[in-house]
Amino acid sequence: MAKGRTVLQVLDEAEDRAIATCTTCPTLCRWSCPVAEAEARETTSPQRLVVLAGFMKRGRVSVEAARALPYHCSQCGACTEACLHDNDVPMVLAAARSRVMAAGAAPHAVREVVGHFGVSGNPQGTSLEPALDAVLAETGHKKVRGGEHVYFPGCSTLELMPEAAVGFLRASSLSGLSDLAVRPSSASCCGLPLFWAGELEGFRGHAARFAAQFTGVKRLVVHDAACAHALIHLYPQVGVRFEPEVVHVTRYLMDGLRAHDAEASTKGPPEERIAYADTCSLARGLDITDAPRRLIAKRFRKRVVELDEDTGRAVDCCGASGLLPLTAPETAQAMAEARLDAFRRSGAAQLAVASPRCAAHLKSVDPTAPVVDMGTLLGRL
Ligand code: SF4
Ligand code: SF4
Repeated sequence: MAKGRTVLQVLDEAEDRAIATCTTCPTLCRWSCPVAEAEARETTSPQRLVVLAGFMKRGRVSVEAARALPYHCSQCGACTEACLHDNDVPMVLAAARSRVMAAGAAPHAVREVVGHFGVSGNPQGTSLEPALDAVLAETGHKKVRGGEHVYFPGCSTLELMPEAAVGFLRASSLSGLSDLAVRPSSASCCGLPLFWAGELEGFRGHAARFAAQFTGVKRLVVHDAACAHALIHLYPQVGVRFEPEVVHVTRYLMDGLRAHDAEASTKGPPEERIAYADTCSLARGLDITDAPRRLIAKRFRKRVVELDEDTGRAVDCCGASGLLPLTAPETAQAMAEARLDAFRRSGAAQLAVASPRCAAHLKSVDPTAPVVDMGTLLGRL
């Protein structure tokens, strides 16, 4: 990234290319968008949002008129997957959000998230070290300053589903893996919510500081796939180099099973049938669809139950990401309900997702739903 250029200036060319192609496109990605589907309107289809972003960029539509519309997107990437031009719609909408944010017209909840970063360096507005300490107290791990392979749960894991981190650390031990260090910096945030908010310069600065904390680390084992996607794909887009290899927890456990005797990890098979739902950050963002299914099969000696909806890279977003639960809560809820309905139709007793963020979102919509993150599931003793 050339010195002295803003993130918007760096993204400018790709943004213009996407706007030009979307403007003349017969909306080929329309049916891939779960937000437009849930809202049953064209205004929030990817094409209309990109055209709106183009008008905003050229000053033809005021930021005040657009206001919350660019936030009607979960940043799921389904439209990019469907697009013959590979248009990075989430990036275009992040740029549009940055204009709304700069004009002070972003939704209050979004501005609050950004404000929290100023207080605590995360979207929660409070330190997550106590949450990390509580996880370690349950697993018997100790925080250390060094370590070449480091575990990073992600701030939403520690806030919303710390039991997933407990489960993952236990599952690592069950699989004979003992090389992971947990550092004080494991309680930090990668800054992704700043990108989602449209606070692009803040995201770049935060990313640089986050990356500096892990200098000298060889592997960062990341629990939240959205964080892993940010480190691998968004950091380079804003000119930040992240040194460690980024590995998702499911890949880490799968590699461990290959390297060690798998017998220890096949204890305690539950009788119930387990369904697995892909998530956009993991399946589309990191191209990981097989490892979670194989982990369940190995751990419990049974095949996972597949849902009767699009799976793999074509999976629909459940509404947990992109700040959608804050900016369009009813839409985010409808998207979660669609996932939960598919699970109910499956007849399985449990729904596993490889994302504490998605598991927490699904449970916020139906607290009685038997939804678990893979960490919790695999760490069952
Ligand atoms: S993202 Fe691609 S498929 Fe969708 S409207 Fe734009 S050009 Fe068409
Ligand atoms: S990233 Fe997902 S939610 Fe956003 S416009 Fe594209 S398909 Fe719709």
